[in-house]
Amino acid sequence: MSSSPWTLLPPPGFQRYDCVGCGACCRGRFAIGVTPEEYARIMAQGWEADPALAGKTLFLPHGDHYVTAYDAAGACVFLDERGLCRIHAKFGEAAKPLACRLYPFRFIPAGRQARVSIRFDCPEVACNRGRALPAHLPALRALLPHALPPAAMDVPVPPLFGRVSCTWDRLARIIDAVDRLLCAKSLDVTRRVAGGVNFAALLRNPRLSALNERAFADFLTTVAGKVTEAAEGDALGRTAPPALARAAFRQLAGVYARADYRGAPARLGQRFATAVRLLTGGGAVPAIQPDFPAVPFSALEDAFGIPDAEAAEPIIRYLRARVLSMGFCGAAFYGRAVLDGLDALLFTYPLLLWFARLFSAGRNRSTLDRAAAERAVEIVDHQHGVTPILNLPSERRRLSFLCERTILRSLVVWYGS
Ligand code: SF4
Repeated sequence: MSSSPWTLLPPPGFQRYDCVGCGACCRGRFAIGVTPEEYARIMAQGWEADPALAGKTLFLPHGDHYVTAYDAAGACVFLDERGLCRIHAKFGEAAKPLACRLYPFRFIPAGRQARVSIRFDCPEVACNRGRALPAHLPALRALLPHALPPAAMDVPVPPLFGRVSCTWDRLARIIDAVDRLLCAKSLDVTRRVAGGVNFAALLRNPRLSALNERAFADFLTTVAGKVTEAAEGDALGRTAPPALARAAFRQLAGVYARADYRGAPARLGQRFATAVRLLTGGGAVPAIQPDFPAVPFSALEDAFGIPDAEAAEPIIRYLRARVLSMGFCGAAFYGRAVLDGLDALLFTYPLLLWFARLFSAGRNRSTLDRAAAERAVEIVDHQHGVTPILNLPSERRRLSFLCERTILRSLVVWYGS
């Protein structure tokens, strides 16, 4: 019998994953955190005597812990020429840092429950290949005590918004309601997300804290019903968001596209030129990542139509996985309140479509395709709630400006139709 004090909630069966050993998570954009204990343990493994690593920096200090160092090509120093982890090959899987053993999974504490989140920057996750996630439960149960100490049960419930408090039960009900909206068969994907924006806005009501649990549940049901009904009759009406909003949107897209890693050369001149182009929106989208095609910014503003079911599938799956894992607010998203985190997650919809448009336009397509959407979720999820840049005051202000209800809706409709 397990002695873990946590109740592990099974991850969703609609999501699949199995590691194929591609090594993508060991290259470039991933900062692999290593605790001081892991640092000491791995340093004692005798790597200075390994001809491939002798004299090389293996770890870089990072706040109160370390990250693994990267070679000149941006790969983890422990990655060998075959693309395999040297620590794993020599000492076994359990000898690796916990972050590597756990990836792409993550546990999110919610009271006495632990929810399972999964990173979509793993290509197998983005493309939904492998076994359904519940098949990984035995391995996750074994890792849980190492990854979530009992003290994590003290993580407070994020507020609903501002000073309005929430409870784990209420948060779970909100998650269910948002998930039902994201699955509403009567709605296309853009109307589902636009409905989500309205739903979040209607919950910003300070009087909700005065309701008892039953009244709160009834309120959610009523609001969700009205929002779905309104979304079914929503004419959308595609009009360009204000120029200021589109400039801020492009700048934030640039933050999400960043592919730098700790220890990478700064290339300040190039970064400045990229920032100017994102601000002005003139010419071609900068090749921030190597696979970005040369496409003018203007091509991303055309009407692409509402994504069809094939193109929408990775996007809906991503949003649902984030919602169901509670990976959109609180500890999983810079400590943000529930509705702020929900708005930020819904904001990823136009962002995902902007990137998907980029890849589709690069193949001379005027509609979105599934491969473009899968690549878009890899890019966006790599940063959402992960990069400290998005938690800087300047980026927080930018995001909250873009999440203002009318602006967010206009972005959802503009890039979603
Ligand atoms: S990116 Fe995904 S499939 Fe590739 S090695 Fe990492 S976990 Fe495995």
